[in-house]
Amino acid sequence: MSLKAFNLDSIGSVTVYKRRNNRRINLSVNAHGTVRVSIPAWMPYQTGLNFVRSKESWILKQQPPKQVFTNAQAIGKAHKLAFVSSPLIEKPKVTVKDGLILVKYPNQQSVNNPEVQAAALKGALKVLRSQAELQLLKRLDLIAQQTGLPYQSLKIKRLRRRWGSCDREKNIVLNLYLVQLPDELIDYVICHELTHTQVLNHGADFWSSLKQISPKAAELKIRLRQYSPAIIFY
Ligand SMILES: [Zn+2]
Repeated sequence: MSLKAFNLDSIGSVTVYKRRNNRRINLSVNAHGTVRVSIPAWMPYQTGLNFVRSKESWILKQQPPKQVFTNAQAIGKAHKLAFVSSPLIEKPKVTVKDGLILVKYPNQQSVNNPEVQAAALKGALKVLRSQAELQLLKRLDLIAQQTGLPYQSLKIKRLRRRWGSCDREKNIVLNLYLVQLPDELIDYVICHELTHTQVLNHGADFWSSLKQISPKAAELKIRLRQYSPAIIFY
């Protein structure tokens, strides 16, 4: 097997594999949005690449949304992002202080450089995590007390698909991205997970119990679908 890597402006990195056993072209996009195409060994790489180009709109739909950090973006509910270039440093560095996520980067790089973007992501996640650990715990404790539904433990995790979970032992997990959402939706997810301390599945019993502690649950469940677990740029 031999391969060649390409980079397309809209799609990003594309790897074309030549496989002896292939009779036709196979295209795949993994969870990170990386595109792979395998072609029969006799076919030119360029034909594989042209095939990828012809499927661009489909590929873009499969890829996770591209997140590009820019100057003065708001992160979470209380932080702003700032980029500053500096002749004195050799690689990007991020600090968080007084509501500011400051990304310093070397003069020869640009804000769009992957290393600079990675530093911004690191700072943004740090901020979201500390907000989530503080605020989601506070909210969960309050609602658990008000509803009389105790839980065992809370963990904050960075999840790609779910907003939260609750196991048999009443250990609750909440997604760190949740802290960015409107308060009503945060409370909905918390009520949802607390209801799982009583009913594990999503049967009719579950929804009627949830409605008792979150009367607008049906409406909030639909509103929550507008959001996906990722950084929201305000
Ligand atoms: Zn559930």
